[in-house]
Amino acid sequence: MLSADIEYYRPATIKAATELFFSLKGENKRPVYYSGGTEILTLGRLDLIQPGALIDIKAIKECLVFEFDRNNLLTGAALPLTYIEDANLFPLLSATSMGIADHTARNKITLGGNLCGQIFYREAVLPFLLCDSVVTIAGQNGVESLPIGQIFNQTFQLAEGQFIIQIMTERRYVDLPFVSIKKRQQWETGYPLLTVAAIKVENQLRFAFSGLCPFPFRSKEMEDELNKAGLSLPERVKRAIGHIPGPVLHDVEGSSEYRLFVLENTLNEIIIELEGR
Ligand SMILES: Cc1cc2nc3c(=O)[nH]c(=O)nc-3n(C[C@H](O)[C@H](O)[C@H](O)COP(=O)(O)OP(=O)(O)OC[C@H]3O[C@@H](n4cnc5c(N)ncnc54)[C@H](O)[C@@H]3O)c2cc1C
Repeated sequence: MLSADIEYYRPATIKAATELFFSLKGENKRPVYYSGGTEILTLGRLDLIQPGALIDIKAIKECLVFEFDRNNLLTGAALPLTYIEDANLFPLLSATSMGIADHTARNKITLGGNLCGQIFYREAVLPFLLCDSVVTIAGQNGVESLPIGQIFNQTFQLAEGQFIIQIMTERRYVDLPFVSIKKRQQWETGYPLLTVAAIKVENQLRFAFSGLCPFPFRSKEMEDELNKAGLSLPERVKRAIGHIPGPVLHDVEGSSEYRLFVLENTLNEIIIELEGR
């Protein structure tokens, strides 16, 4: 159960949020950043986490932007997923986001919560991995911006007290041809058996995956194989599957054998579609 005397704060600035985090930590209050709150409340009620103080980041204006700033699209971490979908400034992100949970849950679930939560699918990271986006984070030493490839490795590698403010994506990526496919064992909502997002950049295809391994990823080795134009399509797919960077999931959503079967078909489907465009 969440403690009845849990403290709630809603700072209006980045600096106030990080200062609050460290002062609450100094008082042993077990602070956590709070965005949509769906996961914190669920895990808190099950007693799987015991936060003593919630720092809501939804009043920080930098966390709520969704706009082009010269050549970059800025996407605030505290935006609910449905807001991102409705504005539709980044069609690949909209398409991937629409596969997450259901519409009612996505009214609450935020981008930052999806990216940093404990539920390991984190499907909203796929478009940013494909577009080499830059992540702006705040922490004890102020604000810094890092290429996603440097700060995301299976999970966001955030130090204690850091949070994501926003993600910057070059404008040239947001309108590229893309495909985002989510396959489930059954039902129209739910966790993925497999989600694959792909874009075509100057005749090269890029791929990112969720639901295949216990973490989302983009793999350079798999992309190299999938882009080998001199080989047949089945051969490219077979070689790429040899470079999956972790154990293939085997769980209630589906066996590892079935996932590999679905992966093979999905990669074929995506390559035929994107190479035809
Ligand atoms: C019914 C349901 C179905 C779901 N289905 C899917 C699915 O199909 N695919 C999928 O990928 N996920 C799915 N999820 C997972 C969901 O996206 C995550 O649980 C997500 O954390 C919820 O977002 P939130 O904004 O409510 O997070 P919160 O509960 O506010 O926070 C979750 C965690 O993220 C941290 N956090 C939040 N924002 C930031 C930030 N800006 N910087 C750093 N840390 C931050 C918090 O401190 C906390 O540890 C589902 C969840 C639910 C409830």
